[in-house]
Amino acid sequence: MSTSRRKFLRSSVIGSAAAVGGSNIFASSANTSTAIKNNPVVVSTWDFGKTANVGAWEVLGKGGRALDAVEAGVRIPEADPTNQTIGYGGLPDRDGRVTLDACIMDEKYNCGSVMCLEHIIHPISVARLVMEKTPHIILTGDGALQFALANGFRKQNLLTPESEKAWKEWMKSANYKPEMNIENRLYNKDNDPMPGGPNNHDTIGMMAMDAAGNMSGACTTSGLAYKMHGRVGDSPVIGAGLYVDNEIGAATSSGVGEEVIRIVGSHLVVELMRHGATPEMACKEAVNRIVKRSPEKSKTIQVGFVALNKQGQYGGYSLQPGFSYSVKSNTVEQVFKAKSYYQ
Ligand code: ASP
Repeated sequence: MSTSRRKFLRSSVIGSAAAVGGSNIFASSANTSTAIKNNPVVVSTWDFGKTANVGAWEVLGKGGRALDAVEAGVRIPEADPTNQTIGYGGLPDRDGRVTLDACIMDEKYNCGSVMCLEHIIHPISVARLVMEKTPHIILTGDGALQFALANGFRKQNLLTPESEKAWKEWMKSANYKPEMNIENRLYNKDNDPMPGGPNNHDTIGMMAMDAAGNMSGACTTSGLAYKMHGRVGDSPVIGAGLYVDNEIGAATSSGVGEEVIRIVGSHLVVELMRHGATPEMACKEAVNRIVKRSPEKSKTIQVGFVALNKQGQYGGYSLQPGFSYSVKSNTVEQVFKAKSYYQ
């Protein structure tokens, strides 16, 4: 490609993206692919990401690989029965079945995904095996289960008594349409999330950069509570719920997956960072696109994005207030409240 053609393409991409945002979101452009070496960092969705980050840090802190870190990290909420949006204890679909979605992506665009997987407590580890042991990227439903069992995973009942009770309660007034939460937490007077809020859906999306400067990501969820059987959200869709480009950065999402899939949200965020947007600006622009497509609907649902760039900068943005993300590095261990489109 000629230099002038390349320049033209670059400026038209920047021009159109900036125009959609209504302002120059690339004002603080700092687009270099230089990684910060020896400064590992892990970033994940929500306040419960803090506990998951501890698991990731056990790998990262010892100089381990980002891919191992994100797998280890998200296995923590997957195994936690009190987290009703991920793995064991996840709220079921409207037929009472716990169906899990997960994907993983490394620093070389290798990726693996499982969709609508039942009975396996760690879908993320099955997704990793799909990536490493098969010529494919995605396995679904029974095929994913067969693959997991053939690779030594144990079949378990993932429906806890608490989640079964919640489902039976929901069934009393069940609508065909899944219900979706806006507020994912109860908040105290300082607007800090407190445990115990209504919580029909959430996801752990996690991104890490290791000491060598390589990035990986993982994303795992039980999806929208009381969804139709067979429904798959954004979380296991590479580019929607998660994307990693080791030259630029990574992004992940939580919230109503249908809206994220429509804009291929996480890939969009990474591409915006490629053209100079900071992580927060890129997440904001992705949220703006959801609002632009469907202004009315966007008032009634939650979607949040979080991103980490190759320079170790991170940021997030959501539709509604209440979205948070957790960060751990050598110098930071904190849950950040993301800014939101609606206040
Ligand atoms: N993104 C998930 C899904 O649509 C749910 C969530 O993160 O809240 O399945």
